Amino acid sequence: MAASELFTPDFKNQPYWWDRAAPQPAAGIEPPRKIDVAIIGSGLTGLSAARTLLAAGRGVVVLDGEDPGYGASRRNAGYLGRTLKKSFPELMEAHGREHAIAVYRELDAALQTVRAIVAEERIECHEVRCGRFIGATSPAHYAQLATELEITRRHLGFEYHMLPKSEQHREMATDIYFGGAVIPDLGALHPGLYHAGLLDRVQSAGGIVCGRTAVNRIAGESGRIELATAAGAIVARDVILATNGYTPRAFSWHARRVIPFTAYMAATEPLPEALLATLLPNRRTVIDSNVNIDFVRPAPDSPRLLFGGATGSNLASPEAIGRRLRAILGRLFPDLATLRLSHAWTGRCAGTFDLMPHMGCRDGIWYGLGYNFAGVPMGSYFGVRIAERILGRERRSVFEDGRFPSVPLYTGNPWFVPHAMRYFDWRDRRFATRPARVPAPTPGTC
Ligand SMILES: Cc1cc2nc3c(=O)[nH]c(=O)nc-3n(C[C@H](O)[C@H](O)[C@H](O)COP(=O)(O)OP(=O)(O)OC[C@H]3O[C@@H](n4cnc5c(N)ncnc54)[C@H](O)[C@@H]3O)c2cc1C
Repeated sequence: MAASELFTPDFKNQPYWWDRAAPQPAAGIEPPRKIDVAIIGSGLTGLSAARTLLAAGRGVVVLDGEDPGYGASRRNAGYLGRTLKKSFPELMEAHGREHAIAVYRELDAALQTVRAIVAEERIECHEVRCGRFIGATSPAHYAQLATELEITRRHLGFEYHMLPKSEQHREMATDIYFGGAVIPDLGALHPGLYHAGLLDRVQSAGGIVCGRTAVNRIAGESGRIELATAAGAIVARDVILATNGYTPRAFSWHARRVIPFTAYMAATEPLPEALLATLLPNRRTVIDSNVNIDFVRPAPDSPRLLFGGATGSNLASPEAIGRRLRAILGRLFPDLATLRLSHAWTGRCAGTFDLMPHMGCRDGIWYGLGYNFAGVPMGSYFGVRIAERILGRERRSVFEDGRFPSVPLYTGNPWFVPHAMRYFDWRDRRFATRPARVPAPTPGTC
């Protein structure tokens, strides 16, 4: 297939969000030699922590090996959810009701944290409470979704309603799903503008943000930690590691615990508004009920669709990404199977071996890692919680339980991810026909 059939003439192999919020070089800013808190990674986790620490009067430097905002925080789909790979009933069964409630209460707090930051900082980033539609990929998934959401509502009060297949077109003009669920209070935003706004507020509050300043080594102990950076040594009282899917193997304890995997997204060429209104009449975000999800949403600021899937695959070229993603679009909306793409891009997420995000402190280094695709709320939230712990103000988060599992021989090379994703695809297909014998899938992420 010729590239001209796949891509628009102005195609960009970079995030759609960068059209309005491209990472800018923070050149010429010298990091201080001594600082209260040094933060490694300028994504949402790092900036959110910086914001809270600055408000408490601490000196903060944020260091990034690339331009500030290079990571997943300006590449994601902008979904605001409170979903984990482990559902509420699953957690309840494994760890008891109290624990499951504590986890899901904090997930909700994470969602509200983003809304609070956007409101308090007056960040214009198209933040909306648009709701989410979860499309069931089989009748068994539909039944499972209904059960999980009802149990969750009973214990936590999170509202939802089920939509049978016969009414599906009220949410989405597709016949691929077997009905689905609507969660009305979830939301979305423009991740580029959200991150850019946060970066601006951190800098305005006196935070020093240094791009192209990789941290290569950390040594010392709590109270006096030395960071070896591309711009010389820095001594900090506290350090936060906020590198998520980009965590380098030099930080071996952390790298052994996060599983980086590549996620793929694309934007379509502009569509007639009337067509968009038929495709997604309520302008909700959409995911499906598989573990390895496909997802689609309307762009917040132009008449086009943004969508993704194939997470964890090895797609090397823009053409390979474009072809694979367009096939997903064609399955969702057969009439759009030949639509051209204006952008296609990748980013790195971080999974964990227990499918849970983790925060904590080890050898004096605080970390917030492993968001399993839910890092827009969770990264923003962990940033606040880590900062509060450094300030000595907060009780422990349920995600700070001291257990952050790895597996023997894993050093941070995620060679097995494509195989794991194929296994999850198989498991989802098998569950569709034999639900009683296979553990229930939990709807994806975001
Ligand atoms: C395509 C895609 C779609 C997604 N969709 C959603 C979604 O809709 N909703 C949702 O909640 N989540 C989503 N996610 C996940 C979410 O984007 C991330 O979990 C979140 O942005 C992580 O933020 P962070 O600040 O922890 O890390 P990042 O934003 O990834 O930032 C990490 C930074 O660390 C820097 N770094 C690494 N090593 C070093 C070093 N040695 N020295 C200095 N700097 C270093 C990197 O350069 C990078 O800038 C998605 C992710 C992707 C890739």
